[in-house]
Amino acid sequence: MKPKGFVRRTRQREVILEVLRGTKSHPTADWVYQEVRKAMPHVSLGTIYRNLKTLSEHGEIQELAFGSTHSRFDANKEIHYHFVCERCGLIEDLDMPVIVGLEEEVAQRGYNVTTHRLEFYGLCPDCANNESMGKAN
Ligand code: ZN
Ligand code: MN
Repeated sequence: MKPKGFVRRTRQREVILEVLRGTKSHPTADWVYQEVRKAMPHVSLGTIYRNLKTLSEHGEIQELAFGSTHSRFDANKEIHYHFVCERCGLIEDLDMPVIVGLEEEVAQRGYNVTTHRLEFYGLCPDCANNESMGKAN
């Protein structure tokens, strides 16, 4: 996990954390912005971005970066795995134990491991269903 240095608690950060803890959808910064604005109408998108960055740098939240697409944010800072639907963009937590010994395997090869992330890609159950119904027609 990332270093957990002290991060100053501001009202903005409290509201951002509340918003993130209230969803399981792994939202984008833009979605967080829309929600935070309901409580703090004058907040700017730039402020949301900066605070999300700071919170993730201090290990208070997880940033799930996906290359060229927008990062998604997760209030669950513990290591856990995700399923990403390639059709609808859904990102869900996988209710399964962390694979024991994975980081040690890599460390044995001489790398200094700080953390790891694991995502599975494919179709979520809904999209898989829609696809098979489409084929039946
Ligand atoms: Zn889907
Ligand atoms: Mn998650």
